[in-house]
Amino acid sequence: MRFTRLRLVGFKSFVDASDFVIEPGLTGVVGPNGCGKSNLVEALRWVMGESSYKNMRASGMDDVIFSGSGNRPARNTAEVMLAIDNSARTAPAAFNDADMLEVTRRIEREAGSVYRINGREVRARDVQLLFADASTGARSPAMVGQGRIGELISAKPQARRAILEEAAGISGLYSRRNEAETR
Ligand code: ATP
Ligand code: MG
Repeated sequence: MRFTRLRLVGFKSFVDASDFVIEPGLTGVVGPNGCGKSNLVEALRWVMGESSYKNMRASGMDDVIFSGSGNRPARNTAEVMLAIDNSARTAPAAFNDADMLEVTRRIEREAGSVYRINGREVRARDVQLLFADASTGARSPAMVGQGRIGELISAKPQARRAILEEAAGISGLYSRRNEAETR
């Protein structure tokens, strides 16, 4: 599962549609302070199903919507699209009918988020499971934020186990078992 494109519209400082092609190999994002580097990483985490606005440096999920600047009015919606190369057909069965998956999350002020995979509306859980199975996702240890290394070192054994299980890609299985048991 390889990310090939990230498109942002109205997300944080990216007021206009911004399209980024993600080439194979290592990608670096460089730029002066405040140009939106961290916003870009947050967009990636957001489209993968981040549910905590605190993890988005926000005081409410609507804060991810462009809030206006000197000469630009605020927007009422934000959208992030992540395109995934699925030619190896490793996506969960429900979404494994295409070589390319486009995962979209759109938020409207005071109306919450809607997720889509290849145009079909899905639950946040479907998106979260899609990435959990690929050992990535909003909470994945593949996304190392400031202070996270210190957290791993000082974590209690159970919390550390959760981090390692996420890295091993089995946390999606636990979620499904819990879901099955509560039905
Ligand atoms: P640094 O090098 O200091 O880490 P950075 O490139 O990571 O900087 P970001 O933190 O991604 O920068 O971007 C910060 C900018 O994004 C600030 O100018 C802030 O005002 C702007 N910003 C954040 N949220 C919004 C929003 N909802 N609407 C408009 N602008 C926003
Ligand atoms: Mg930053």
